[in-house]
Amino acid sequence: MHISNVQQLMAAVGWYAGLIDNDAGPKTWAAISKAEAVERGRYSKSPGRWSKKRRLIGAGQAALAVLGFEPGAVDGYDGHNTGEALAAFLSERAGTSSDVSRTPLVGVRSHPAQKKFPLQRDMGEFYGKAGGAQCTAGKVDLPFPMIIAWNRRQKVNRFSCHEKLAAPLTSIYRETLSHYGLVEVRRLELDVFGGCFNHRKKRGGSTLSTHAYGAAVDQNPGKNQLRWGADRAQFARAEYEPFWRIVMEHGGTPAGYAWGKDWMHFQFARLS
Ligand SMILES: [Zn+2]
Repeated sequence: MHISNVQQLMAAVGWYAGLIDNDAGPKTWAAISKAEAVERGRYSKSPGRWSKKRRLIGAGQAALAVLGFEPGAVDGYDGHNTGEALAAFLSERAGTSSDVSRTPLVGVRSHPAQKKFPLQRDMGEFYGKAGGAQCTAGKVDLPFPMIIAWNRRQKVNRFSCHEKLAAPLTSIYRETLSHYGLVEVRRLELDVFGGCFNHRKKRGGSTLSTHAYGAAVDQNPGKNQLRWGADRAQFARAEYEPFWRIVMEHGGTPAGYAWGKDWMHFQFARLS
């Protein structure tokens, strides 16, 4: 059980109202203390002398018990029963949210936030020379480690992008984590990084790629291949719509929706 799961669970009970950011700060610890005080009767032993990690798990278990998911003993150990109870909670939550909060993805080429970024043909004016130092001067500090698509044993906690895009990209990944939680981010492979800056021409073309400005990101290219349509691409599925909405709200354009292919790719430049 990850910290983000404990936060989600405590939020579901009403103990916690902070971000689901997988970072145990003061609000998270206040909620854990509240769980220990209010639900002391559910704990197998007094958690007063437990390690921090055990107290985190314990609060998650207590929340699962309150919510009726039967995690077994509230003992601070992340065993089989706890894992099954958490999986049941997450799948119920995913089911509910896809029924209730799903709205069609609109404005993929006309979201107001996209207007902050240039037309593709004006990228040089806005971003400067392709391949210049500014194209890698932005650093995106990731709220979850990303797996390198071309070397899956390697993970990164940050990547470089154009200096004007560090802020929107950082927000995109933070909000992705806070929307989905870490377990879902991993299940959906939103943590597979396919590259950002790359000084090259467009595939099969003579003009520079948006990647040459550090103004585009690819994700999980293996399951979202360049010429695949929505029938095959992983990121065309409904469960990715919240991710794409977050991208657009920060000014990104999802290639898959905008052009019907290259579902791995989003960029900070408009076609029209
Ligand atoms: Zn790309």
